[in-house]
Amino acid sequence: MKWNRALRDMKPYIPGKTTTEVKTLYGLDEVVKLASNENPYGCSPTVQSFLKTLRTEFEIYPDGHASVLRAKLSDRHNVEESSILFGNGSDEIISIITRALLDENLNTIMAIPTFPQYAHNARIQGAEIREIPLHNGQHDLDGMSCAIDANTSVIWLCSPNNPTGNLIPSKALRNFLEQIRLDILVVIDEAYFEYISDESYIDSVHLLQEFQNVIILRTFSKAFGLASLRIGYGIGHPSVISELNKVRNPFNANTNALLIAEKALDDMSFIQQCRELNHIQSLRLQNFAAQHDLHIFDTEANFVLIAVDGDADDAAKYLLQRGYIVRSGNALGTPGYIRVTIGTQVQNTGFMATFNQYLKNVRGH
Ligand SMILES: *Cc1c(COP(=O)(O)O)cnc(C)c1O
Repeated sequence: MKWNRALRDMKPYIPGKTTTEVKTLYGLDEVVKLASNENPYGCSPTVQSFLKTLRTEFEIYPDGHASVLRAKLSDRHNVEESSILFGNGSDEIISIITRALLDENLNTIMAIPTFPQYAHNARIQGAEIREIPLHNGQHDLDGMSCAIDANTSVIWLCSPNNPTGNLIPSKALRNFLEQIRLDILVVIDEAYFEYISDESYIDSVHLLQEFQNVIILRTFSKAFGLASLRIGYGIGHPSVISELNKVRNPFNANTNALLIAEKALDDMSFIQQCRELNHIQSLRLQNFAAQHDLHIFDTEANFVLIAVDGDADDAAKYLLQRGYIVRSGNALGTPGYIRVTIGTQVQNTGFMATFNQYLKNVRGH
Protein backbone atom coordinates (compact mmCIF):
# COMPACT_ATOMS: atom_id res chain seq x y z
CA MET A 1 0.00 0.00 0.00
CA LYS A 2 1.06 3.52 -0.62
CA TRP A 3 1.45 4.64 2.98
CA ASN A 4 2.37 8.18 3.88
CA ARG A 5 6.19 7.98 3.96
CA ALA A 6 6.26 9.66 7.36
CA LEU A 7 4.61 6.60 8.94
CA ARG A 8 7.70 4.43 8.29
CA ASP A 9 9.56 5.66 11.35
CA MET A 10 6.51 5.98 13.59
CA LYS A 11 4.92 3.73 16.17
CA PRO A 12 1.29 3.68 17.28
CA TYR A 13 0.48 5.17 20.70
CA ILE A 14 0.66 2.52 23.41
CA PRO A 15 -1.83 3.38 26.14
CA GLY A 16 -0.89 2.76 29.77
CA LYS A 17 -2.47 -0.04 31.75
CA THR A 18 -5.99 0.53 33.05
CA THR A 19 -6.68 0.18 36.78
CA THR A 20 -8.69 -3.00 36.07
CA GLU A 21 -5.73 -4.57 34.23
CA VAL A 22 -3.34 -3.67 37.05
CA LYS A 23 -5.70 -5.12 39.68
CA THR A 24 -5.90 -8.45 37.85
CA LEU A 25 -2.20 -8.55 37.02
CA TYR A 26 -0.95 -8.02 40.59
CA GLY A 27 -3.97 -9.28 42.56
CA LEU A 28 -4.69 -5.88 44.09
CA ASP A 29 -8.01 -4.69 45.52
CA GLU A 30 -7.26 -1.06 45.04
CA VAL A 31 -5.25 0.77 42.42
CA VAL A 32 -4.56 4.50 42.23
CA LYS A 33 -3.98 5.92 38.77
CA LEU A 34 -1.55 8.83 38.93
CA ALA A 35 -0.41 8.55 35.33
CA SER A 36 -2.54 10.82 33.13
CA ASN A 37 -3.11 13.96 35.20
CA GLU A 38 -6.83 13.32 35.54
CA ASN A 39 -8.70 15.12 38.33
CA PRO A 40 -8.59 12.89 41.46
CA TYR A 41 -11.74 14.61 42.75
CA GLY A 42 -13.73 13.65 39.63
CA CYS A 43 -16.05 16.31 38.23
CA SER A 44 -18.24 18.95 39.86
CA PRO A 45 -21.34 17.98 41.92
CA THR A 46 -23.31 20.31 39.62
CA VAL A 47 -22.32 18.11 36.70
CA GLN A 48 -23.05 14.93 38.62
CA SER A 49 -26.60 15.96 39.42
CA PHE A 50 -27.12 17.18 35.84
CA LEU A 51 -26.08 13.75 34.58
CA LYS A 52 -29.03 12.17 36.38
CA THR A 53 -31.45 14.25 34.31
CA LEU A 54 -29.58 14.12 31.01
CA ARG A 55 -31.75 12.71 28.21
CA THR A 56 -29.67 12.84 25.05
CA GLU A 57 -31.36 12.24 21.72
CA PHE A 58 -28.72 9.82 20.49
CA GLU A 59 -30.14 9.66 16.95
CA ILE A 60 -29.56 13.38 16.36
CA TYR A 61 -26.19 14.75 15.20
CA PRO A 62 -24.49 17.20 17.55
CA ASP A 63 -24.72 20.95 17.04
CA GLY A 64 -21.73 21.36 14.73
CA HIS A 65 -21.44 25.01 15.73
CA ALA A 66 -21.55 24.28 19.47
CA SER A 67 -23.70 27.41 19.79
CA VAL A 68 -24.53 27.30 23.50
CA LEU A 69 -21.09 26.37 24.78
CA ARG A 70 -19.60 28.88 22.34
CA ALA A 71 -21.77 31.71 23.71
CA LYS A 72 -20.90 30.75 27.26
CA LEU A 73 -17.16 30.65 26.65
CA SER A 74 -17.22 33.85 24.62
CA ASP A 75 -18.82 35.52 27.66
CA ARG A 76 -16.41 33.91 30.08
CA HIS A 77 -13.29 34.94 28.17
CA ASN A 78 -14.68 38.18 26.82
CA VAL A 79 -13.84 37.25 23.21
CA GLU A 80 -15.94 37.13 20.07
CA GLU A 81 -17.79 33.89 19.38
CA SER A 82 -15.85 33.61 16.13
CA SER A 83 -12.62 33.46 18.18
CA ILE A 84 -13.36 29.96 19.44
CA LEU A 85 -12.64 26.57 17.84
CA PHE A 86 -13.85 23.36 19.45
CA GLY A 87 -12.05 20.04 19.32
CA ASN A 88 -12.52 16.43 20.31
CA GLY A 89 -10.20 17.19 23.18
CA SER A 90 -7.46 19.76 22.69
CA ASP A 91 -5.56 16.84 21.14
CA GLU A 92 -7.74 17.33 18.09
CA ILE A 93 -7.03 21.06 17.94
CA ILE A 94 -3.32 20.18 17.84
CA SER A 95 -4.00 17.88 14.90
CA ILE A 96 -6.16 20.51 13.14
CA ILE A 97 -3.38 23.10 13.52
CA THR A 98 -0.72 20.81 12.08
CA ARG A 99 -2.90 19.75 9.14
CA ALA A 100 -3.69 23.37 8.35
CA LEU A 101 -0.19 24.82 8.76
CA LEU A 102 2.53 22.19 8.27
CA ASP A 103 3.89 20.23 5.33
CA GLU A 104 7.19 18.87 3.94
CA ASN A 105 8.47 22.34 3.13
CA LEU A 106 7.86 23.89 6.52
CA ASN A 107 9.28 23.58 10.00
CA THR A 108 7.89 23.79 13.48
CA ILE A 109 9.57 24.69 16.77
CA MET A 110 8.87 23.25 20.20
CA ALA A 111 10.57 22.51 23.49
CA ILE A 112 11.97 19.11 24.42
CA PRO A 113 10.71 17.44 26.51
CA THR A 114 7.17 18.68 26.02
CA PHE A 115 3.75 17.28 25.16
CA PRO A 116 4.51 14.61 22.51
CA GLN A 117 1.46 15.26 20.33
CA TYR A 118 3.01 18.39 18.75
CA ALA A 119 5.92 16.42 17.27
CA HIS A 120 3.76 13.38 16.55
CA ASN A 121 1.31 15.32 14.39
CA ALA A 122 4.05 17.38 12.74
CA ARG A 123 5.84 14.17 11.79
CA ILE A 124 2.74 12.85 10.00
CA GLN A 125 2.70 16.07 7.97
CA GLY A 126 6.34 15.50 7.02
CA ALA A 127 7.38 18.82 8.54
CA GLU A 128 10.84 19.45 9.97
CA ILE A 129 10.76 19.44 13.77
CA ARG A 130 13.09 21.75 15.67
CA GLU A 131 13.25 20.77 19.32
CA ILE A 132 14.85 23.23 21.73
CA PRO A 133 15.91 21.71 25.09
CA LEU A 134 14.35 23.11 28.25
CA HIS A 135 16.58 24.97 30.73
CA ASN A 136 15.80 23.72 34.24
CA GLY A 137 12.32 22.77 33.10
CA GLN A 138 11.72 26.18 31.49
CA HIS A 139 11.20 26.85 27.79
CA ASP A 140 14.35 28.37 26.27
CA LEU A 141 12.48 31.17 24.54
CA ASP A 142 15.64 32.81 23.18
CA GLY A 143 16.76 29.48 21.76
CA MET A 144 13.33 28.99 20.21
CA SER A 145 13.32 32.40 18.59
CA CYS A 146 16.86 31.77 17.22
CA ALA A 147 15.58 28.58 15.56
CA ILE A 148 13.11 30.53 13.41
CA ASP A 149 13.76 30.82 9.69
CA ALA A 150 11.73 31.74 6.61
CA ASN A 151 10.04 28.32 6.60
CA THR A 152 8.92 28.33 10.22
CA SER A 153 5.15 27.96 10.44
CA VAL A 154 4.15 26.96 13.98
CA ILE A 155 5.74 27.42 17.41
CA TRP A 156 4.42 25.36 20.34
CA LEU A 157 4.57 26.60 23.90
CA CYS A 158 3.25 24.36 26.65
CA SER A 159 2.53 26.25 29.85
CA PRO A 160 2.52 24.73 32.42
CA ASN A 161 4.77 22.36 30.49
CA ASN A 162 4.01 18.66 30.42
CA PRO A 163 6.03 16.75 31.79
CA THR A 164 7.98 19.26 33.91
CA GLY A 165 5.06 21.39 35.18
CA ASN A 166 6.90 24.71 34.80
CA LEU A 167 4.93 27.82 33.89
CA ILE A 168 6.24 30.30 31.32
CA PRO A 169 6.30 33.65 33.19
CA SER A 170 3.79 36.10 31.69
CA LYS A 171 6.42 38.77 31.14
CA ALA A 172 8.77 36.41 29.28
CA LEU A 173 5.87 35.21 27.17
CA ARG A 174 4.95 38.74 26.10
CA ASN A 175 8.59 39.60 25.29
CA PHE A 176 8.79 36.46 23.18
CA LEU A 177 5.61 37.22 21.23
CA GLU A 178 6.89 40.69 20.43
CA GLN A 179 9.78 39.11 18.53
CA ILE A 180 7.74 36.66 16.47
CA ARG A 181 6.79 37.38 12.86
CA LEU A 182 3.04 37.55 12.28
CA ASP A 183 3.13 34.77 9.67
CA ILE A 184 4.06 32.27 12.38
CA LEU A 185 1.31 30.80 14.55
CA VAL A 186 2.25 30.59 18.22
CA VAL A 187 0.27 27.92 20.06
CA ILE A 188 0.06 28.33 23.84
CA ASP A 189 -1.19 25.04 25.24
CA GLU A 190 -2.68 25.77 28.65
CA ALA A 191 -4.23 22.39 29.43
CA TYR A 192 -3.44 22.99 33.12
CA PHE A 193 -4.48 26.65 33.22
CA GLU A 194 -7.02 26.10 36.02
CA TYR A 195 -4.30 24.78 38.34
CA ILE A 196 -2.01 27.81 38.09
CA SER A 197 -1.60 29.41 41.51
CA ASP A 198 1.39 31.66 40.74
CA GLU A 199 0.06 35.15 41.40
CA SER A 200 2.25 36.78 38.77
CA TYR A 201 0.46 34.85 36.02
CA ILE A 202 -1.68 37.07 33.77
CA ASP A 203 -4.46 35.28 31.86
CA SER A 204 -2.96 34.72 28.40
CA VAL A 205 -6.27 35.43 26.71
CA HIS A 206 -5.43 39.15 27.10
CA LEU A 207 -2.54 38.63 24.67
CA LEU A 208 -4.99 37.96 21.84
CA GLN A 209 -5.95 41.63 21.65
CA GLU A 210 -2.38 42.47 20.80
CA PHE A 211 -1.10 39.40 18.95
CA GLN A 212 -3.23 38.05 16.11
CA ASN A 213 -0.88 35.12 15.53
CA VAL A 214 -1.58 33.39 18.84
CA ILE A 215 -3.93 30.54 19.69
CA ILE A 216 -4.54 29.44 23.27
CA LEU A 217 -5.61 25.86 23.97
CA ARG A 218 -7.79 24.97 26.92
CA THR A 219 -9.51 21.73 27.85
CA PHE A 220 -12.26 20.22 29.98
CA SER A 221 -10.14 17.08 30.47
CA LYS A 222 -7.98 18.08 33.39
CA ALA A 223 -9.31 20.34 36.19
CA PHE A 224 -12.92 20.02 35.00
CA GLY A 225 -12.57 16.25 35.34
CA LEU A 226 -14.20 15.41 32.00
CA ALA A 227 -11.39 13.65 30.11
CA SER A 228 -13.63 10.83 28.89
CA LEU A 229 -15.94 13.24 27.04
CA ARG A 230 -13.19 14.60 24.77
CA ILE A 231 -13.84 18.32 24.61
CA GLY A 232 -11.32 21.13 24.36
CA TYR A 233 -11.08 24.46 22.57
CA GLY A 234 -8.77 27.01 21.07
CA ILE A 235 -9.10 30.80 21.33
CA GLY A 236 -7.50 32.90 18.62
CA HIS A 237 -8.09 35.68 16.14
CA PRO A 238 -11.24 35.08 14.03
CA SER A 239 -9.12 35.09 10.85
CA VAL A 240 -7.00 32.23 12.25
CA ILE A 241 -10.00 30.34 13.59
CA SER A 242 -11.87 30.52 10.27
CA GLU A 243 -8.91 28.97 8.41
CA LEU A 244 -8.57 26.21 11.00
CA ASN A 245 -12.31 25.57 10.74
CA LYS A 246 -11.80 24.42 7.13
CA VAL A 247 -9.88 21.42 8.47
CA ARG A 248 -12.21 20.57 11.37
CA ASN A 249 -14.60 17.64 11.01
CA PRO A 250 -18.18 18.96 11.10
CA PHE A 251 -19.40 17.05 14.18
CA ASN A 252 -16.17 16.67 16.12
CA ALA A 253 -17.59 17.69 19.50
CA ASN A 254 -20.33 15.32 20.62
CA THR A 255 -23.68 16.29 22.14
CA ASN A 256 -23.02 14.99 25.66
CA ALA A 257 -19.63 16.68 25.77
CA LEU A 258 -21.18 20.02 24.79
CA LEU A 259 -24.07 19.79 27.26
CA ILE A 260 -21.92 18.64 30.16
CA ALA A 261 -19.15 21.16 29.52
CA GLU A 262 -21.78 23.92 29.63
CA LYS A 263 -22.87 22.74 33.08
CA ALA A 264 -19.28 22.39 34.28
CA LEU A 265 -18.73 26.10 33.57
CA ASP A 266 -21.54 26.94 36.03
CA ASP A 267 -19.58 25.60 38.97
CA MET A 268 -16.31 27.47 39.15
CA SER A 269 -16.19 27.04 42.93
CA PHE A 270 -15.40 23.37 42.27
CA ILE A 271 -12.47 24.43 40.09
CA GLN A 272 -11.22 26.82 42.75
CA GLN A 273 -11.48 24.08 45.36
CA CYS A 274 -9.53 21.68 43.16
CA ARG A 275 -6.84 24.29 42.57
CA GLU A 276 -6.47 24.91 46.30
CA LEU A 277 -6.43 21.23 47.24
CA ASN A 278 -3.97 20.53 44.45
CA HIS A 279 -1.67 23.30 45.66
CA ILE A 280 -1.64 21.94 49.23
CA GLN A 281 -0.89 18.43 47.99
CA SER A 282 1.74 19.75 45.60
CA LEU A 283 3.59 21.31 48.55
CA ARG A 284 3.48 17.98 50.41
CA LEU A 285 5.13 16.23 47.47
CA GLN A 286 7.72 18.98 47.19
CA ASN A 287 8.53 18.60 50.90
CA PHE A 288 8.83 14.87 50.42
CA ALA A 289 11.33 15.43 47.61
CA ALA A 290 13.35 17.89 49.71
CA GLN A 291 13.42 15.52 52.70
CA HIS A 292 14.68 12.69 50.52
CA ASP A 293 17.14 14.85 48.63
CA LEU A 294 15.41 14.22 45.31
CA HIS A 295 15.26 16.84 42.58
CA ILE A 296 11.74 17.98 41.70
CA PHE A 297 10.66 20.55 39.11
CA ASP A 298 8.65 23.66 40.06
CA THR A 299 5.12 22.75 39.10
CA GLU A 300 2.04 24.86 38.50
CA ALA A 301 0.06 21.87 37.29
CA ASN A 302 -1.55 18.80 38.87
CA PHE A 303 1.52 16.62 38.45
CA VAL A 304 5.13 16.57 39.57
CA LEU A 305 8.25 15.37 37.84
CA ILE A 306 10.40 13.93 40.57
CA ALA A 307 13.84 12.30 40.46
CA VAL A 308 14.24 8.65 41.47
CA ASP A 309 17.25 6.65 42.55
CA GLY A 310 18.01 3.89 40.10
CA ASP A 311 16.20 3.40 36.79
CA ALA A 312 12.87 5.20 36.42
CA ASP A 313 11.32 2.09 34.84
CA ASP A 314 12.26 0.08 37.94
CA ALA A 315 10.75 2.69 40.24
CA ALA A 316 7.55 2.86 38.16
CA LYS A 317 7.31 -0.94 38.16
CA TYR A 318 7.82 -1.14 41.94
CA LEU A 319 5.02 1.39 42.43
CA LEU A 320 2.77 -0.34 39.88
CA GLN A 321 3.07 -3.71 41.64
CA ARG A 322 1.90 -1.98 44.83
CA GLY A 323 -1.06 -0.23 43.23
CA TYR A 324 0.30 3.16 42.13
CA ILE A 325 0.33 3.80 38.38
CA VAL A 326 2.83 6.56 37.53
CA ARG A 327 4.71 7.40 34.30
CA SER A 328 8.36 6.50 33.96
CA GLY A 329 10.39 9.43 32.71
CA ASN A 330 12.18 7.03 30.34
CA ALA A 331 9.13 7.27 28.08
CA LEU A 332 8.79 11.04 28.49
CA GLY A 333 12.30 12.14 27.60
CA THR A 334 13.24 12.61 31.27
CA PRO A 335 15.18 9.50 32.33
CA GLY A 336 15.87 9.35 36.05
CA TYR A 337 12.46 10.86 36.86
CA ILE A 338 8.87 9.74 37.29
CA ARG A 339 5.85 11.90 36.52
CA VAL A 340 3.22 11.59 39.22
CA THR A 341 -0.26 13.09 39.08
CA ILE A 342 -1.01 14.93 42.32
CA GLY A 343 -3.78 12.88 43.93
CA THR A 344 -5.99 13.36 46.96
CA GLN A 345 -4.47 13.58 50.45
CA VAL A 346 -5.06 9.85 51.05
CA GLN A 347 -3.70 8.85 47.64
CA ASN A 348 -0.56 10.93 48.09
CA THR A 349 0.06 9.60 51.60
CA GLY A 350 -0.07 6.09 50.18
CA PHE A 351 2.10 7.00 47.23
CA MET A 352 4.75 8.62 49.40
CA ALA A 353 4.86 5.67 51.82
CA THR A 354 5.33 3.26 48.91
CA PHE A 355 7.89 5.47 47.20
CA ASN A 356 9.72 5.76 50.52
CA GLN A 357 9.95 1.95 50.71
CA TYR A 358 11.37 1.88 47.21
CA LEU A 359 14.01 4.48 48.11
CA LYS A 360 14.97 2.53 51.25
CA ASN A 361 15.42 -0.62 49.17
CA VAL A 362 17.55 1.11 46.58
CA ARG A 363 19.59 3.09 49.08
CA GLY A 364 20.06 0.03 51.29
CA HIS A 365 18.99 1.70 54.54
C1 LIG B 1 -3.66 16.34 28.62
C2 LIG B 1 -3.07 17.35 27.71
C3 LIG B 1 -3.69 17.72 26.52
C4 LIG B 1 -4.82 16.94 25.92
O1 LIG B 1 -6.01 17.21 26.45
P1 LIG B 1 -7.34 16.71 25.77
O2 LIG B 1 -8.17 17.93 25.79
O3 LIG B 1 -7.84 15.63 26.66
O4 LIG B 1 -7.07 16.22 24.39
C5 LIG B 1 -3.15 18.72 25.75
N1 LIG B 1 -2.00 19.31 26.12
C6 LIG B 1 -1.36 18.96 27.23
C7 LIG B 1 -0.09 19.64 27.59
C8 LIG B 1 -1.86 17.95 28.06
O5 LIG B 1 -1.17 17.57 29.13
